[in-house]
Amino acid sequence: ASLELVQETPYRWRIERQGAMRVPGVVFTTRELLPDLSADQSLAQVAAVATLPGVVEAVYAMPDVHWGYGFPIGGVAATDVDRGGVVSPGGVGFDISCGVRLLLAGLHLDRLRPRLTALMDALADAIPRGMGRGAVWRPRGTAELEGILAGGARYAVERGHGEPADLDRCEDRGALADADPGAVGARARERGLEQVGSLGSGNHFLEVEAVTEVYDERIAQTYGLWPGRVCVMIHTGSRGLGHQICTDFVRRMETAMDRYGISVPDRQLACAPVFSAEGGAYMGAMAAAANYGRANRQLLGQATRHAFDRAVGHGDLTVLYDVSHNLAKIETHGSRRLCVHRKGATLALPPGHEDLPPDLRPVGQPVLVPGSMGAGSYVLAGVPDSPAFASACHGAGRRLSRHQAVKTTTAARLRAELQAAGIVVRGASARGLTEETPEAYKDVDAVVDACEGAGLARKVARLAPVGVVKG
Ligand code: 5GP
Ligand code: MN
Ligand code: MN
Repeated sequence: ASLELVQETPYRWRIERQGAMRVPGVVFTTRELLPDLSADQSLAQVAAVATLPGVVEAVYAMPDVHWGYGFPIGGVAATDVDRGGVVSPGGVGFDISCGVRLLLAGLHLDRLRPRLTALMDALADAIPRGMGRGAVWRPRGTAELEGILAGGARYAVERGHGEPADLDRCEDRGALADADPGAVGARARERGLEQVGSLGSGNHFLEVEAVTEVYDERIAQTYGLWPGRVCVMIHTGSRGLGHQICTDFVRRMETAMDRYGISVPDRQLACAPVFSAEGGAYMGAMAAAANYGRANRQLLGQATRHAFDRAVGHGDLTVLYDVSHNLAKIETHGSRRLCVHRKGATLALPPGHEDLPPDLRPVGQPVLVPGSMGAGSYVLAGVPDSPAFASACHGAGRRLSRHQAVKTTTAARLRAELQAAGIVVRGASARGLTEETPEAYKDVDAVVDACEGAGLARKVARLAPVGVVKG
């Protein structure tokens, strides 16, 4: 049957329950941004996720929603773990704990401009990227890899890659406690060993940016965002290790579902009860991959500092925040323990939340929203009483598939356009660059306004790109 979509407010649409749906879907978006039901499967995916055992309240879609493997990207779904609630690897995605770190330099863009080319060369030199080999850190033997899987960014800092103060600004202080390195398979470890401290390809990037707009003076001041301030946004995840874990567990859960009496409308929604052998092992392996992703961003943040030091003599960058946008977490909401899947959605803790460091607690969590290498990016803040289990959008969201994107431009034209806009590009193959053309993404300003209008988060500052290292 076709989906029935009911507009509830200018920023909120309900997908009515039908068929095997246990809860409705809720899409936070505007009429302009609403996916085209005839051309896009993402809202049908919301409805399919709403059939999963134990799902509660509603399956939510953020304004940047688009098609993904099983779950849509920009989707949030929570299951009640004490009532048979499941975890689904497709609800986390292949790049487990992919996320964003924002570093702040003690420098105005005017002072960086004369050194920008040198800085971009230094960053291109310091940041391993692309599909192939090359990483900041090659763990010696299994003990070091175990350390990364169990200790995340915390272990990286212990080993001299960064400052203890960095961890105050990392979600979960840089490491999930319940990681089980033993649940990570041999092939995943093998892939992981060679990629600790590497950007990856495609959509992953390291971008030098400057604050161009401040919307909330008080919060911006607390965050340290002033007009002209130079920042560095790092977007990467758990590389081949996370990818392999997702592959391994989708396969394992596919064959286990029968035993738990679970049937799903789409194989890509393979899942298992959180409290089951398969569910528990996945949670442990996923947390280990998440820690790997956090160590990865910690290492690249440290490499960024060295590059700044060499090229501009200002290596004293501080971390504003580091947050994952592909993760499932056990959280308490009301009286229930829920497994909250956020896939292409960012945790957005409200003011006063105990998981925030004391200096950020009065204003709420920084929510990091990349837009595109041409359009710009945003910093938002978590707000009280937000719907969707304290989640917000994670980007502008894809509008065109990679295949469609490459047909809209050429690498030479895109490079020239970015250069004319004062944006220096390093790395990226011709194909990789055109797949990531700003055209390929939705209008980040509209997405962020929808996010704010829907009461998911509040605008704090806008960031403009000045240089980008693409994976
Ligand atoms: P994802 O995690 O879904 O791959 O990407 C998150 C978001 O990053 C995308 O929805 C897009 O808006 C944004 N993005 C992709 N490439 C770039 C880039 O080069 N620079 C910036 N600032 N944002 C980007
Ligand atoms: Mn990723
Ligand atoms: Mn990502």
